[in-house]
Amino acid sequence: MDEDIPLMKDHTAEVLSEVMQERARQDAKWGEQNHPDGTGGQFFKYVAKITREACDAQSASGQITWRHILDEEAAEVCAETDPAKLREELVQVAAVAVAWIEAIDRRSKT
Ligand SMILES: [Mg+2]
Repeated sequence: MDEDIPLMKDHTAEVLSEVMQERARQDAKWGEQNHPDGTGGQFFKYVAKITREACDAQSASGQITWRHILDEEAAEVCAETDPAKLREELVQVAAVAVAWIEAIDRRSKT
C-alpha cells in the first residue's frame, strides 16, 4: 500500500461498512463459498482489449462513464489467471464500485 496516499475518507468508510454488511448477509445466506475462478482464455483477453479501447476512447472524448470504467476492470478480472494478479484486479473492481457508489451519493446531496 502506498504510504503517501491517505487511507480513506469518512464517506469511503461508510460505503465500505455497507459492503461489509452485504458480505455478512451473503455468508449468512450461502455460507463460505469456494468456487473455481473460471477466468482466462482468448475470449476474455479479447473482451478486456475491447473494453480497454472503449474506455480509452470515451475518456479521450470526454464521455467516460462509470459503466465504461467498471466494464474495463471487470473484463481484466475475467481475463486474468495468475492468482496474485487476479486478486489485484478484483481489488480494483471493488475500488471502482465503491468510487461509483460515492459518486451516486454525492449526486443525491446536491
Ligand atoms: Mg484492472
